[in-house]
Amino acid sequence: MTEQTVELLLATSNPHKLEEARAILGPRGIRIVDLGQIGADVIEPIEDATTFVGNARIKARYYASHMGCTCLADDSGLEVDALDGRPGVHSARYAGVGKTRQERDEANNRKLIAELQGGKVDHPTARFICCLCLAAPDGNIITEVQGSFEGVLTTTPKGTNGFGYDPLLYLPDMGCTSAELDPAVKNARSHRGQALRLLAQQLPSLIASDALSS
Ligand code: IMP
Repeated sequence: MTEQTVELLLATSNPHKLEEARAILGPRGIRIVDLGQIGADVIEPIEDATTFVGNARIKARYYASHMGCTCLADDSGLEVDALDGRPGVHSARYAGVGKTRQERDEANNRKLIAELQGGKVDHPTARFICCLCLAAPDGNIITEVQGSFEGVLTTTPKGTNGFGYDPLLYLPDMGCTSAELDPAVKNARSHRGQALRLLAQQLPSLIASDALSS
C-alpha cells in the first residue's frame, strides 16, 4: 500500500457490512465513508438483477452517478445447493416480512429453517457470496471482486455475532456457526473479507493509473 490515504464511499445502509469493511480496509490505509457521513439523501435503487454481480453494479453505478464520486457497492447473500441456490439474490428479503433489518433477518432465518426441515438433505451445503463493484460517476466499472464462504446449514441457530444468516452457517472445521466467530476471525475467512482484501491488493495500481481520480 502507498502512504497515501484513500477515501472510498461504500454505498450501504447495512452497519455490519460497513463495520466489516472498515475493519479490513482501515489498517490498509483506506478510509471508508458511508452515505450518511457525506449527507447523501438518495432514494435506494431497484436491485432487479438476477446475479450478485449485477446488483452490485446497479448500486455502485447509481450512487457514483448521484454522488459524483467513485463508489464501492457490496451485494451478497446465501446460496443453498439443496434449494437450487436460493435464497440467492433474494437473501435480504427472503421471507418478505419485517420492518427492521433485525425483524427481516429473523423472519428469513425462520423461513429457511422451515424449508430445510421439510427437505431430505441432512447437512445441506451452502455458501455466502460477496460481490464488490467499484464504479466511476460516468458508469465505468473500475473493478469487481468476489469472495465465498463455505459451510453447511444447521436448523439450530447459534451465536449472536454478525448478522443475517450467520447463526445458520455451520463451519465443520471450526465446530461453530459464523455467528459464534469473533468478528476478526469471521473477517479472516469470510466472503466479504476475501473480496475486500482482493480489492485492497488492486488499489495501489488503480491509484497509480488515476482510475480513482473522480
Ligand atoms: P444485500 O444488502 O442486498 O447485499 O443483502 C445481503 C443479505 O445477504 C443480508 O441481508 C443477509 O441476509 C445475507 N448476508 C450477506 N452477507 C452476510 C453475512 O456476512 N452474514 C450473514 N448473512 C449475510
